[in-house]
Amino acid sequence: MELLCVLQISLKPRVRLGTQGFLPHTSTSPLALTIIGEIWHLSADLALINTNIKTMNPTQPIAQALAITKNKIVKVGTNKQIAPLIGEKTKVLSFDGKTVVPGLIDTHIHVADFGRCLMWLDLTSAESITQLQHMLKEKAGHTPAGKWIVGRGWNQDRFKEKRMPQTPDLDGAAPDNPVILYHEAAMICAVNTKALQLADVTKHTLVPKGGAIDKKPATDELTGILRDSATRLIWRAVPEPTAAELLEATALACQKISRAGITSVHWLVLSEVELAIIQNLHAMGRLPFRVNVVVPQELLEKTVGFKTNDVSVLRVGGVTIAADGYLDSKEAALLEPYSDEPKNSGKLFCTEQALAVSVAKVLAAGVQPIILAMGDRAVDTALNVIEQTPKSNVRFRIEQAAVLNKDLVKRLKKHKIVVSVQPKVISTEFSVWSATQRLGLERARWLHPLKTLLKEGVKVVGGSDCPMEPLSPLLGMQEVVVRAEFPEQRLSVEEALRMYTLDAAYSSGEENVKGSIEEGKLADLTVLSCDPMAVEPKKIKDINVELVIIDGKILIA
Ligand SMILES: [Zn+2]
Repeated sequence: MELLCVLQISLKPRVRLGTQGFLPHTSTSPLALTIIGEIWHLSADLALINTNIKTMNPTQPIAQALAITKNKIVKVGTNKQIAPLIGEKTKVLSFDGKTVVPGLIDTHIHVADFGRCLMWLDLTSAESITQLQHMLKEKAGHTPAGKWIVGRGWNQDRFKEKRMPQTPDLDGAAPDNPVILYHEAAMICAVNTKALQLADVTKHTLVPKGGAIDKKPATDELTGILRDSATRLIWRAVPEPTAAELLEATALACQKISRAGITSVHWLVLSEVELAIIQNLHAMGRLPFRVNVVVPQELLEKTVGFKTNDVSVLRVGGVTIAADGYLDSKEAALLEPYSDEPKNSGKLFCTEQALAVSVAKVLAAGVQPIILAMGDRAVDTALNVIEQTPKSNVRFRIEQAAVLNKDLVKRLKKHKIVVSVQPKVISTEFSVWSATQRLGLERARWLHPLKTLLKEGVKVVGGSDCPMEPLSPLLGMQEVVVRAEFPEQRLSVEEALRMYTLDAAYSSGEENVKGSIEEGKLADLTVLSCDPMAVEPKKIKDINVELVIIDGKILIA
């Protein structure tokens, strides 16, 4: 599992600004255009022409040009149809065949955690211990003495030396700072002498259950490598970042998210501090995307004072309720035991009655219940609760719904439940353990059966789970298109794109204002270097995000 993977976008805007040379000026005879009851007499503020627009609007799937006035799309069509809306003050972007898609929506991202990770030293490119030392020395050079340096991403298999970094390696590079550097698999860390001292870890320290503290066989001295639960002995000594540090880190994460082409996020909040950070960034005008805040049920009461003056920009939209755990740790609740552990069927985190009480509380607060249910037994329990809940306009969403069966799919369809998945998590799951071994062949076929869900008409939406997985929505789309296991469940690129646009908007009840490029909708657009439907599926992740337009404003140029 990757904790940190920041999409580096090389921005090469090959757009031409201005009206000259592309279309005739028509501002002397402005055209009146009827838009949902309003009459627009003025020329548009912004026009995109000569482009390949994937609208995600089934009645007009492809277009060549569009016009924006203020924050709304006012016309979608051909260059010729947009021409009358171009006046002297209209900014015209000619994209020479680039592809414009609706602004991408990440339905599951932990923005503040992503920010925390960005504060860490990224060691994923280190190819030797010497190089790691250089990187650490450089970081120490602009870190005050005594302040912790946290890093991650090293892997001794990539090192020339083919060994793990040890205390003397780190002491030499950063003698004045406590240092903890996590392996890319996160469950191993290398620390220096200062870190051991501050954490009070010596060769006499009791090794916690499920952990290990490496020692030199000859002398019994510590090597500086700690494993699994023992890594916490050091981590607990690392102070929390200050509120100001966290705010700046989160703001940096926001910028990176925006540059990945994302115009809306479902921000899964994990602490009360984050709620304050979101409000502060909003007040400072530093949120470069729309935010649908999702909190765990224990934080629901803390959202009472949450202020927003425009719910299309910022709102508290959902509350998560966990029904079970992960398949990885065999905590997902299954109807039949795990195939590789016949006495274990996982466990529900709460009874059906308790889940019903939680759902009722969330509904009473007027927000969307998002039930985290991984195993088929948890999905069944979630559906039982949903089936007993009085009918309302609220759309239920199940996060993961990983292990399904024919009956569960039918019930998901019947109750119009949105299934939310993180495609990179799916491929990581398949790669770190054998689904066939853990679930048996027949049940493994029903693990994330996305194509089956779509065929049945169940809406499936996509998110990143960043920073646990890489941020890129294009990588997420690629994953569901090229899926290796059970290829009959692969999606088309168009279906993958819908997971991150129109259906993502539907999942938060916002499909009437965003998610497709249609007249009257919010002007949130992502401009791509090429058409994801035209490139080789394995290269979708390599497509560049060239420009983001949000609320009618050009954000990256
Ligand atoms: Zn998550």
